[in-house]
Amino acid sequence: LSERLSGVFDKLTSQGALSEDDVKTALREVRVALLEADVSLPVARDFVKAVESRATGQAVTKSVTPGQQVIKIVHDELINVLKGDSEDTELLKVDNPPAPILMVGLQGGGKTTTTAKLAKRLKEKQGKRVLMASLDVYRPAAMHQLEVLGQQIGVDTLPIVAGQKPADIAKRAKQQAIMGGYDVYMLDTAGRLSIDDELMAEVEAVRDVTNPRETLLVVDGLTGQDAVNTAENFNNRIGISGVVLTRMDGDGRGGAALSMRAVTGKPIKFVGLGEKMDALEEFTPDRIAGRILGMGDIVALVEKAQETIEAEQAERMMRRFTKGQFNMNDMKMQLEQMLKMGGMEGLMGMMPGMGKMAKQVKESGFEDKTIARQIALIQSMTKKERANPALLQASRKKRIAKGAGLEVSELNKLLKMHRQMADMMKKMGKMGKGGMLKQAMK
Ligand code: GDP
Ligand code: MG
Repeated sequence: LSERLSGVFDKLTSQGALSEDDVKTALREVRVALLEADVSLPVARDFVKAVESRATGQAVTKSVTPGQQVIKIVHDELINVLKGDSEDTELLKVDNPPAPILMVGLQGGGKTTTTAKLAKRLKEKQGKRVLMASLDVYRPAAMHQLEVLGQQIGVDTLPIVAGQKPADIAKRAKQQAIMGGYDVYMLDTAGRLSIDDELMAEVEAVRDVTNPRETLLVVDGLTGQDAVNTAENFNNRIGISGVVLTRMDGDGRGGAALSMRAVTGKPIKFVGLGEKMDALEEFTPDRIAGRILGMGDIVALVEKAQETIEAEQAERMMRRFTKGQFNMNDMKMQLEQMLKMGGMEGLMGMMPGMGKMAKQVKESGFEDKTIARQIALIQSMTKKERANPALLQASRKKRIAKGAGLEVSELNKLLKMHRQMADMMKKMGKMGKGGMLKQAMK
């Protein structure tokens, strides 16, 4: 419950504001933590700067230190950055069969393994028919590696033909995918130990003959500073659509995630968590954020403190309600809360005894538009009327309805609902001297 109320009480939790000094001191620690997590230096610097201006002046929650508060702000911001814009919510675009997926990255980053992991996932989770092709013409063993993985997971691989160039193999893969009725074909390119022009030209040629729906950069999550270079190069020259971070099962704190996101602006789509074929998960910003910052205890502490304060305030409010002091301002707050939570199951649904009523109201055609109209009605009341709805006689009602551009009948409906809610809360208070309410708070 306290979580649901947080929006309402945000304004009330302040115990003072973060000073520039508080923020600077805490951010010094954060910067060290980021660098220790292998976030690249320029990315760490920019990130800290952005948080600094945002955090200064923000309210400090009672019972936590300013430093702790800053770390919580940093943590939330980290999640925001890692999440990026919401436009890239689709994990992999594999419509219009056969959809080509191009896998790029340095040697040993985990391309071949990830190709097979993704193929397995597409097959099992999305029922796709997948064809995999190795374009690693330099190491015959690499081609066999993909073939073996294919057999293991039951996914077809393009037959190996010696002496072809990567772009030719890609063409062959495309033809085979069309003829064979595959939904997706995956191109596992050769890597190099470091970025070089030949590699880039080769990958460009492959890109140009297949026009990939997804170009995924596979990066070892343990590599810190170089990862940024790699990402920048591949993104500028080839154009990537997303990143897969591998070896996140290791001890590394995964700072590469932040660097990748910041430098390429492209979403991190998956993380590799081991050598096994199902050790691949969707990227979850909050988990990685905690890991990068390595200050999970502090974040949890601040959250707990905020929750406690919200719960205390909610309880104070409830105590007032159970004494029958439920006025139109309270009603407005409830309605706004409902709007925010997208429906009646919100706050009312959380209160014992109110769930049923919420359902009834909903069934009687209560929707967002209605809520907005009711809020408009309350807004057209005077301060006195809001505090004491008993004042509302015919002439006042007419004025209020007119002010909101609505009928008096709508106002009557609102008043009836208000009375019902007020009664219900009073009854609940009597039932268990607030005992039930207290329980609902937990
Ligand atoms: P490629 O050169 O980019 O194709 O890299 P490979 O796919 O051949 O992977 C190189 C090594 O890293 C192999 O031994 C893989 O088993 C291992 N590997 C790949 N992904 C992961 C991962 O997420 N976690 C761990 N622990 N090992 C991985
Ligand atoms: Mg490989």
